[in-house]
Amino acid sequence: MNWLTNFVRPRIQALVSKTEVPENLWEKCPGCEQMLFHRELDANLRVCHHCNHHLRIGAEARLKMLFDGGDFALIEIPKAVIDPLRFRDRRRYGERLRDAQAKTGRDDAIMVADGTMGGSRVVVAALDFDFLGGSMGVAVGDGLLTAARQAVAVGAPMIAVSASGGARMQEGILSLMQMPRTTIAVDEVREAGLPYIVVLADPTTGGVSASFAMLGDVTLAEPGAIIGFAGRRVIEETIRESLPDGFQRAEYLRDHGVVDMVVPRHQLRDTLIRLLGLLTAAPKVAEPAPATEPVVEIVDAEPVPGKGARDGDGAQS
Ligand SMILES: [Zn+2]
Repeated sequence: MNWLTNFVRPRIQALVSKTEVPENLWEKCPGCEQMLFHRELDANLRVCHHCNHHLRIGAEARLKMLFDGGDFALIEIPKAVIDPLRFRDRRRYGERLRDAQAKTGRDDAIMVADGTMGGSRVVVAALDFDFLGGSMGVAVGDGLLTAARQAVAVGAPMIAVSASGGARMQEGILSLMQMPRTTIAVDEVREAGLPYIVVLADPTTGGVSASFAMLGDVTLAEPGAIIGFAGRRVIEETIRESLPDGFQRAEYLRDHGVVDMVVPRHQLRDTLIRLLGLLTAAPKVAEPAPATEPVVEIVDAEPVPGKGARDGDGAQS
């Protein structure tokens, strides 16, 4: 009997449990508490078809929904130092990191992709909330710099999609340094004269909201997304006042001028294509450029002999 109970039964149980259906076939909508079948939910871009609540979406699904035909090339991000502070709270940070890597199949909480949207080339950096809350450590900073440099190298606009709880506490000061670092990344795109658009997804808080996520030429947000720096409870406890309804929600921020547009997920791709078209087409349409060219030519044409002599002198000395 011992052999049966101690050896055979566990073996059989192990076999049976492995073939069990996955637990997450159904998901409860946080908005209306209806149970949603995962296939229907994914087919509807993870938007509840009962109440239109926008559930969180992973980075890969996000990239697939944005690029033409769901096709894109992933840009490799340089490998960051793992657990630079050898940090440990209840668990080692290295262990948490390995778990997140096993769960998501990615090195860190960011994906950088190059592809086309509406036929025009775009570089997109998307944060993944499933990976340690989309928190920003050195690797995420590296990802944004990589995205910015890729955008500059190929002369394409950059889009950042944020979904993050903020800085990665386990990397201490190094995670805070990613705020200026990602700001510089955005500056590089701007200095190259390329558009930089941000899509704020739920949630965008802490150090991410205090850096690259708030620096877009145009700032879009998904309906109902929580966007802010400190959490509601922390603010209420600090100022000892209750905050208005909808505080830190995308719609509230749009009404108060922080966000330009709240765009439902089904319209996000088309809206981005339209915006990119407007932002990138502008210089070609602009009239002043041809008008100034003849003026410059005339001015140049007259002093050429004198100027040439002076230039020659300069070269000799
Ligand atoms: Zn719902």
